[in-house]
Order: sequence, then C-alpha cells, then structure tokens
Amino acid sequence: MKKEYKACKICKRLTPENICPVHGEEKAKEDWFGFLIINNINSTIANKANVSEPGIYAIKVRS
Ligand SMILES: [Zn+2]
Repeated sequence: MKKEYKACKICKRLTPENICPVHGEEKAKEDWFGFLIINNINSTIANKANVSEPGIYAIKVRS
C-alpha cells in the first residue's frame, strides 16, 4: 500500500483522495498504520473492525 493513500479518521477507510467519500467534510489523514482488506462484511474481522462496506481500511489512524 502506497503512502499516498489517506485514511478517514472516522471510518478508517483508505482513499487516494484528500477527503473521505463518506465523511466528505472530514479531512483524511496521512498518518495511519497497517491496513485491512475487507471483502466480506460478514466476516469476523469486518465485525471486529466495525466495517459495513467492503474496502480497504487502516488499522490505526492518528488524530
Ligand atoms: Zn470516513
């Protein structure tokens, strides 16, 4: 994962954009660690990460 990706500090979604597509007004942060690829939102890991849509999510985002 390249570091041009930014993570939303609310939903932790990783995006190449400067803002989260869901939380538009919140700036996405460059300061994040690790990532999860969620393909199946019914999986245990998606549940643990509290994710409701498939996608790529940061494990940790510094605020
Ligand atoms: Zn978001």
